[in-house]
Amino acid sequence: MGTENQGYPNFPARPTSSPFAAAPPPGVPPQSGGPATGSETGFRPFQPAASQPTRPFTPSGPPVAPSVGPMRPVQSPLVSQIPGNRPPPPSANSFPSTPYGPPGGGSFQRFPAPPFPAAQNPPRGPPPTQTLAGHLSPPMSIRPQQPMAPVTMGPPPQSMPSGPPGANAFPPPADSHMAARPGFQQSMPPVNPSYPGGVGSQPSFPGYPSKQVLQAPPMPFQSVSQGPPSTVSQYPPGGFAQHPNLAAQQNMHPSYAPPTSNVQGLTEDFNSLSLSSIPGSLEPGLDRNSFPRPLDGDVKPNSFAETYPMNCHSRYLRLTTSAIPNSQSLASRWHLPLGAVVCPLAETPEGEEVPLIDFGSMGIIRCRRCRTYVNPYVNFTDSGRKWRCNICSMLNDVPGEYFSHLDATGRRMDMDQRPELTKGSVEIIAPTEYMVRPPMPPIYFFLIDVSISASKSGMLEVVAQTIKSCLDNLPGYPRTQIGFITYDSTLHFYNMKSSLSQPQMMVVSDLDDIFVPLPDDLLVNLSESRNVVEAFLDSLPLMFQDNVNVESAFGPALRAAFMVMNQLGGKLLIFQNSLPSLGAGRLKLRGDDPRIYGTDKEYTLRVAEDPFYKQMAADCTKFQIGINVYAFSDKYTDIASLGTLAKYTGGQVYYYPGFQSSVHGDKLRHELARDLTRETAWEAVMRIRCGKGIRFSSYHGNFMLRSTDLLALPAVDCDKAYAMQLSLEETLLTTPTVYFQVALLYTASCGERRIRVHTAVAPVVADLGEMYRQADTGSIVSVYTRLAIEKSLSAKLDDARNAIQLKIVKALREYRNLHAVQHRLGSRLIYPESLKFLPLYGLAISKSTPLQGGPADASLDERCAAGFTMMALPVKKLLKLLYPNLFRVDEWLSKPSADQDDLKDVVRRLPLAAESLDSRGLYIYDDGFRLVLWFGRMLSPDIAKNLLGADFAAELSRVTLQEQENGMSKKLMRLINKVRENDPSYHPMCFLVRQGEQPREGFLLLRNLIEDQMGGSSGYVDWIMQLHRQIQQNA
Ligand SMILES: [Zn+2]
Repeated sequence: MGTENQGYPNFPARPTSSPFAAAPPPGVPPQSGGPATGSETGFRPFQPAASQPTRPFTPSGPPVAPSVGPMRPVQSPLVSQIPGNRPPPPSANSFPSTPYGPPGGGSFQRFPAPPFPAAQNPPRGPPPTQTLAGHLSPPMSIRPQQPMAPVTMGPPPQSMPSGPPGANAFPPPADSHMAARPGFQQSMPPVNPSYPGGVGSQPSFPGYPSKQVLQAPPMPFQSVSQGPPSTVSQYPPGGFAQHPNLAAQQNMHPSYAPPTSNVQGLTEDFNSLSLSSIPGSLEPGLDRNSFPRPLDGDVKPNSFAETYPMNCHSRYLRLTTSAIPNSQSLASRWHLPLGAVVCPLAETPEGEEVPLIDFGSMGIIRCRRCRTYVNPYVNFTDSGRKWRCNICSMLNDVPGEYFSHLDATGRRMDMDQRPELTKGSVEIIAPTEYMVRPPMPPIYFFLIDVSISASKSGMLEVVAQTIKSCLDNLPGYPRTQIGFITYDSTLHFYNMKSSLSQPQMMVVSDLDDIFVPLPDDLLVNLSESRNVVEAFLDSLPLMFQDNVNVESAFGPALRAAFMVMNQLGGKLLIFQNSLPSLGAGRLKLRGDDPRIYGTDKEYTLRVAEDPFYKQMAADCTKFQIGINVYAFSDKYTDIASLGTLAKYTGGQVYYYPGFQSSVHGDKLRHELARDLTRETAWEAVMRIRCGKGIRFSSYHGNFMLRSTDLLALPAVDCDKAYAMQLSLEETLLTTPTVYFQVALLYTASCGERRIRVHTAVAPVVADLGEMYRQADTGSIVSVYTRLAIEKSLSAKLDDARNAIQLKIVKALREYRNLHAVQHRLGSRLIYPESLKFLPLYGLAISKSTPLQGGPADASLDERCAAGFTMMALPVKKLLKLLYPNLFRVDEWLSKPSADQDDLKDVVRRLPLAAESLDSRGLYIYDDGFRLVLWFGRMLSPDIAKNLLGADFAAELSRVTLQEQENGMSKKLMRLINKVRENDPSYHPMCFLVRQGEQPREGFLLLRNLIEDQMGGSSGYVDWIMQLHRQIQQNA
C-alpha cells in the first residue's frame, strides 16, 4: 500500500508525459485525451508515445499481416473451419464489411503493455513475435500486435516484493506532500471550518457517546481519583503498565476507565467442569448437558467496545485477546495465538455505513514518520498546532487548513464535524498521489470449459444465463468491462466489438505458443457492447450442446486470459469441469492410493504439484488479477492445484462436485450472482499497523504478501477475512495501550481511489489472568483454523489435529496453574468464561472437512476445496460452519400461529448430538453451506404429506423440496428462505433425508454431529476427558 509505505523509493516513477487525471467522479468515465472516439469511451486515458497506425481491414482473401517491428507475418492463410462437430458460430455471416478497426482512424489508446516478467515459465518472446496458429473463423485479417510502446510507467518488477507495475499503490515520499503544504498559518485560522468534500453540513453524530462527555482538565493520572469503576472494567491492580502519558490518553477517550482493585473478582472468575466422578472413562453419571455449547452462535466480547467506544466495530477487527501482554515472557505463557482477524469490508447494517471523508486540497492527514492516518486517538497539542501520533508518538504539524482551536479541555472545537476524529472506521478519498495510473474500471473476465461434461451437466447453460441476468447489476456502470474465452482441446476467443451485431469466434489450436488474436476487442466495455455480449451468452450453450470433446486445455486458456487481462487487471472467473489435460499445467490423477496417508508424503496430495499454478497466481496478483475458481466435476479435478490460483490472488474456490443443473443449478445461480454483484474493491493492498514494540509477524488467508507486511488483494469483498499473528519485539512494553490501524487502499467500482481505515486500541496488561479474561474465542478459533489448515499442507492430518489439541492443553494448563495456588481444584477442569467454548471448537476444527479422519472420510478434492474456503471466512461464518445450527421445526410448523415467523423463536439451537434427535420430529441442520432436513421415522405422516406432497413416502434422495399448496409447506419455505437471506454469502442447498436411510443419513447428518463419537474420532465427552488428563500431566 504504497503510500503507506516507507519503501516508496523502490517504486517505479510516474510517467512524466502523462499528467494524472484526477479520479473521475462516480459514474463518469475518465475522459480520453485523444480524439473523440465515440465507441471507445472505455478506459483508455493514456496517450501512448507512438500512436498505433491504422490498418485497413481486408475482408476476404489471405490476410495481409504486415511486419511491424518484431511481428512475424502470419504464415498461412487463415481458413474458415469449424473444428470437430461444432456448429458454425452465429457470427459466421454477420461480419461487417466496413473497415475494421477503431473508428476515427485507429486512435486506440492503451496502456503500454508491460513486458512479461523475465521469470515467465517457460521462457518466451514478447507476444508480437508469436504467430496465430490454428484456425480463425470466419476468415479475417489479424491486426498485428504493435511493438511495445515505451513503458512510461516504469519497468515492471521482476519479483513480487518490488511491487507490481501499474499497481495503484505508490505513495509520494513521506514528506513530499507535507512539504508542499503551505506553512502553518499563525493568524486567524478558521475557527469552525466547514467540512470539505460534501460532509460539510453533516451534523454532529447523534448517539455517539464520547463526544458529549465533558472533559476534566488534564491532570496527572491517579487511579483512585477516577471514580467508580465501570462495570466492564475489572482490571487487576498492576494489570496496566502505567505511563505518564495516560492523562492525555484519558482526554482522548473519556469513557476509558482505569484498572480498579478487584482481587476477589479475579480469583473467582473461572468456570469449571467437575470430572471427578469419571476417572478415565465416560460414566453414566456424567452430566453431559452441563458442557458448554455455543447455542447462541458467535458471542462477541463486548467489553472492548464499551471501554473504547471509538474503536472500530468488531465486524472489521477482532483481537484474539483485548489485553495485550506487556512482556515477551507474559506472551509466552498465554499459549493461545496472539493476533487478530480482519474483515476490512464487512457488510454494515443499514444506518451504520462507514463515513466518507475528503480532505480535499489539504491532503490526507497522516503521521510524517509512520504514516498512520489521523484517527480518534491522536492528540492535539500546542493550541491545536501540533498533533501527536498515537502509534509512534511523533509530534506532527497540523496543516493550516486543518487547524482548529482547542477548547478548555484540549478538545478540538470542530470535533463534531470530523468523523475521522470520532469514528473508528472511515473511508478516505485518495488523491492522485495514491495512484500510478487512473483507477481501473471493474473488469470481469470469464474462462469457461465447454468440453462434453460442461455442456451435458447443464453448467454451461446456468453460467450463461446467470451472467446475462447480472449484466445490469455488475458494479461500475458505465465503465465495467467484460470478456470471455472458452476452451476444450482448443481455445476460443470472442470478438465483442460494439460495432458487431454478433460475437465473432476465433479458434486457436496451438497450445504451446499462445497468441491472442485481436487483443483490443476481447475485453470490451459492457455498456457499449451490451448487445454483442447478450447475443454471445444466449448462443453459448447452443454452440457447444453437441460438443463431444473431452479434453481440457486449461493451462493454455489461463495464459491466454492472463494475456488479455494483464494491462488492466480485474476479476477472472474460471469454470472448470474436468482435470486439465492438455498443454502447460496439465495435471494427473493422484491421491487414489490410500497408502500414502499416514506417511511423510501425505501432505503433497494437498498442495499443487506443478509450479505452473503458483507461478500463474503470482503473475496474476502482480497484474491486479484476482481469480475465483468454480469446479464442477464428479471426478478428481485436483482442486489442490486449481485452488492455488484463488489462494494467491485473494480469490475463492466454489466447488460443486458432480454438478447437475437440476440439482445444483440454484446454488450456482445464487453464488455466481453474489460473486458478480457484490461490491468489490479493486487493485487493493492492505496493511495493518500497530504501536511500537509489537509487530504482526505472520498472515493467514488467501492473498499474496508483497513485502513483509503488505497484503496484495487484486479484488476483495465483504466475504473475505484475514488472520494475523502478533509478536512482541521488545522484552517489555512501557505504554499503557497499544493501537492498531488497518488500512485498505483500493479502487472503488465507481472509479474513486479510497482508503478504508479501521482504528482500535487495547490496553497493555501485566497480568495473565486479564489476558484470558479478555480473550475472544471467535478470533482465536479463526486463527487456529487457518493455522491447522496450513499445517495440513506440510504435515500429516494427524499432526495438524494434534497441534490444535496441544495448544488448547497448554493454554488451559497455564490457566489452571494461575489458580491452583489459591484453590483446591481437584479433578475439575477449569477455564475462563471467555474461553468456555474453545475446547468444543477445537474438537470441531479437527472434525472439519479439511482436517477430519483419513482418506475414507472426505475426498481429496472436497478436503482441499473446504480448506481454501475456510481460509477466507469471516469469524461468524466460520464458527457456524464449525458448530452448525440444529433445530427442530415440526412443532412450530404444526402451530396455528402460522405467520409468526420470528426466526429467533424457531431457530433454537440444539446440541450437535444424536440424542438431540427425536424420531417424532423434523429437524433442520444448517452449516451455512447446506441445509439438511431430517425426517424422523415416527414423524406424523400428515406433516410429511404436507411438505412433500405425493412424494411423502418415497426415498428422500429422489425428492426435492418444493412448495406445496398448503400453509405448512409455505411456512417451511419461508423459513428456509429467511435462513438463506440472513447469510447470502453462500446459498445452502437443501437435502432431505429420512431417519435410517443409510448411508445418506450418516453422510449428510450423523457424521456432522460433532459431539458424538464417530469412527475413530472423539466425541465431546472423550475430548474433554483427554484434554483434562493432559492438562493434569505435569501440572
Ligand atoms: Zn506515527
